[in-house]
This record gives sequence, structure tokens and C-alpha cells, in this order.
Amino acid sequence: MTAIDGYELGLHELGDGCHAYLQPDGGWGWSNAGLVVGDGVSLLVDTLFDLHLTRRMLDSMASVTRTAPIGTLVNTHANGDHCYGNQLVDQAEIIATVATAHEMTEVPPAMLAALNGAPGEVGELFRAFFGAFDFADIDLKLPTRTFEKRLDLDIGGRAVELIEVGPAHTQGDTIVIVPDAKVAYTGDILFIGGTPIVWAGPLSNWVAACDLMLGMDVDTVVPGHGPITDKSGVAQVRDYLAFVESEATVRHDAGLDAWEAARDIAREIGEAPSFGAWGEFGRIAVNVETVYRSLDPGHTTPDVVEQFRRMARIEAGAS
Ligand SMILES: [Zn+2]
Repeated sequence: MTAIDGYELGLHELGDGCHAYLQPDGGWGWSNAGLVVGDGVSLLVDTLFDLHLTRRMLDSMASVTRTAPIGTLVNTHANGDHCYGNQLVDQAEIIATVATAHEMTEVPPAMLAALNGAPGEVGELFRAFFGAFDFADIDLKLPTRTFEKRLDLDIGGRAVELIEVGPAHTQGDTIVIVPDAKVAYTGDILFIGGTPIVWAGPLSNWVAACDLMLGMDVDTVVPGHGPITDKSGVAQVRDYLAFVESEATVRHDAGLDAWEAARDIAREIGEAPSFGAWGEFGRIAVNVETVYRSLDPGHTTPDVVEQFRRMARIEAGAS
């Protein structure tokens, strides 16, 4: 494996026909993608949040895809920053888990466009998260092939393994493994330098996904957001999730409500050397909600607007 250059926008060659497309700073919507090149054909891991970004990425891959066109697209999960550009690779077979394919129908691009364009406080809130993206003209192209648990692909003579590890970040997360290059593309099962957000959970599934990767023969790990890493990055995400699960459980058992618990844990994380420097630390609000739902199936999580409001409040220093 060749040395990996810095965390810069664009296509990065990992060696052995594997590439990563990185979009610093890895915050909200600034996702990564991957390209695996076989003999005369390629596999793309994820598209990006809008058509401009996806077009720019596909252009940067043109020198490779001219002789090895993208025949397969894998969507690691249903969040728009990993699939809203699908229509630009619609000649490819599009593969995702059954759960992801279903979830992709639940948050159409028009919904994000409407939230970004909403009047008053809601529009202001969403533009603070997603104002850099253009959700116009997106006609979301859904998967043409679905699977559950595991799918083994042959991409121009090389093996690529799709492994379903969700529900965790979303209802149907997939990791993509290229064994002959010892490369893993994790989708949002890894955020590096930013805080993981557990929309679906349970957290134990995500911890198990980290353990699975830690046991694999992989050297290079491309996260869904943030710089390229190795197993040490996997271990850090695992540690964060285990920390949140135990801290939230203690507070649940002591009778704190989820919002009180989230603010309390945010204060603790702010003082901790390990996770305190990570971006998007307000995501603890969503993560604690997810722990509370797994402890108490009757627990009701507030709507998505309120969840974004709470994340913004924590990052603005709410206590
Ligand atoms: Zn993402």
C-alpha cells in the first residue's frame, strides 16, 4: 500500500486500484466516496449530496473511468450525502441493502430543499447545517438490486464484499471490503475527526460493526466523513460509542430525561481529552435519544427539527 497523502479535496490513490474521494472538512453533508477499479470496469462507493458535487467528483475520476467505466454503484446507506447524486451514474447497477432502499424513499431531496427554504427559525436552523448544498433538480435514483446481510461481487476479476452491519447509523448500513487491497470503505460507520451520529441504533450494533472491522485483515480505512484512517480510527469510534452508551444508561437509571442527560454528557466530553476535540459534538443529543429508546421502547424521540435545534443548542453552549 502506498503512503496516503493529506486530507485534501479530491481523488486520492490508495494503491492496488483503490481510490478515495475526500471532501474536507467532513462536517454535515461533506461526505467521502470510493472507487474500486477492476479489469475494464469499476465500482463506485456512494455518490454525494448534490449534483454539482457529484459531477465534480465524477470528472476527477474520468482518467480512470474512461477505460474502466462505473458498472456498479453501492450506496452504503440512505442519507442524502451518500446517494443524492445517483442519477449521474444511472447506467450502473445500483446496489444497497433492502433496509437502505426502503429508507431512501423516506427523506426525498424535496424535503431538504423545503427545510432549507423554510421561512423563519426553521429555515435559518437548517441553512446553518445544509445551506451550502443545492437540492434542486435531484431526481433520486433508487437501487436496482438489493441484498441482506452480505453480497459478494466480482468487479472486473476482483472480489469485493458488501457486509450489512446496520441498523446502526441508519436502518441499513453497509461496509465495503476489498480483501486483495486490504481496504475498507465504511460509509458513516466511521466519522473521523467528527462525532458519530446514531440515528437508528442500537449502539451495540455499531460497536459490533467496529469489532468486526477490528478483526479483519485491513490496513486502510476510508470513513464516510473525515480523513483516511486505519484500525486506530475504528477503535476510537468504538470507544466513543461505548462511552456514550454507558454514560447515558447511568443517567437514564438516575431519572434524568434524555435532553438533560445529553447536556450533562456534553459537558463531560468537553472536558475529556479523547472526544472533546471532535467536531459536531452536539450530536450527543441524538445519540442519547437512541440509547434511551433502546432502554425503554416506549421512549418517544422528538421530531427531526427539534433534534437539529438541540444539536445546535449544545454546540452553542446550552447547559
Ligand atoms: Zn454522511
